[in-house]
Amino acid sequence: LRTGKHIFGAIYFDSVTTKIAIVGIDGTMKHTADMETQASRPEQFAQLCLEKLGMIRRQFHFPPFTGIGVSVAGIVDPALSKVVFAPNLGWADLDLAKIIRDCYPEVRIISLENDAKASAVAELWFGKHDINLSSFVFLLVDRGIGAGIVVDKNVLYGESHAAGEFGHMTLIEGGDLCSCGNSGCWEMYASDRATVLRYLAARHADPALSPRISMDDIIEKTRNHDDIPRKVLKESAYYLGLGIANIIKSVDPGAIIIGGKITQAWDIIYPEIMRTLGKRALLGKQRETGILPATLPTPPLLGAAALSIRKFFTDFRVTI
Ligand SMILES: [Zn+2]
Repeated sequence: LRTGKHIFGAIYFDSVTTKIAIVGIDGTMKHTADMETQASRPEQFAQLCLEKLGMIRRQFHFPPFTGIGVSVAGIVDPALSKVVFAPNLGWADLDLAKIIRDCYPEVRIISLENDAKASAVAELWFGKHDINLSSFVFLLVDRGIGAGIVVDKNVLYGESHAAGEFGHMTLIEGGDLCSCGNSGCWEMYASDRATVLRYLAARHADPALSPRISMDDIIEKTRNHDDIPRKVLKESAYYLGLGIANIIKSVDPGAIIIGGKITQAWDIIYPEIMRTLGKRALLGKQRETGILPATLPTPPLLGAAALSIRKFFTDFRVTI
C-alpha cells in the first residue's frame, strides 16, 4: 500500500472556529487551516469549507481525495449522514452528506460524526496512551461538553444517536438556562464558555466581552502570577470533577480522556478533578479510573479523518 497515494479531507464544524485539514492514511496532518464559523448560513458555509479544502489540495499538489470526513459539535446520525441537532451552532436536520456529495461527486467515502465520538475514534486509532483502551470515555471540553463512550472498542450510539450527551445532564437544579432548553446543564458550569463567563464576572467585566476573551488568554494569564485565572480554572475543574464522578458511576470506563484547551492547564485542573472525585468515591472506583489528557492535536478534526480512513480499510478490505 502506497500511503502517499491516499489523502483524506477533514472538516470540524465548531461554533466559533471551523478547522479543516488534509490528512494522510496514517493519521498525519499534512496541512491545516482555520475558518471563522458562519453558523447562520450552514449550507453556504459548508460549501465554502469544502471549496477551501479543494483549493489547499490543488495548491500543495496532493492527489484527489480518497475520502472526506466531517465532525460536528452536535447530535449526528452517521447512518443518514445528517446533523440532527447542534444547539451551539443553531443547526437542525441538516443534510451535510448531500452538500459534500454535490461538491465532490467523485469521492466514494464520506463520513459524518459527532465531534466527541469522532475524537474517541481518533484516540482509539491514533492515540499515544500506553494503556489498554478497550473501554473509555472521551470528554471533549469546548464551548459545550460532549462525550464519546467506547465500550469494547465500539462507540456507543444509543437509540437516537445521542449517547454521551453528558454536557446536558442536569448538574444544578434551577441553574443557568442552556441552549438546549434545559437549565442547570453540566456544560453551563464546566465548558470553556462557562469558564470565560466566570472569569469576566471575577474581573467585574461586561459578559458581552466574552467573544474577545478566550481560554488561551485565561491560561496564559495563569503564568503571570495572577490568582484570578487560576481560581476560575480550579472552579471549572471542580465542576468537571462532579460530572466525571457521575460518568464513572454510570459507565465504569477504564479511563476518561479529556480533550480541549482546558487541558493546557493540566497542572492546575488535574489535582482539583482528583480531589472532587476522591470525595465522591464509590468503593474507591474513582481512584482507579485513569483521568488523562488527550494525546492528539485537535482530536475532533483527526477523528473526522479517522472515520473515513476506517471506512476505507473496511470497504476495500485492505490490509497493511
Ligand atoms: Zn443543555
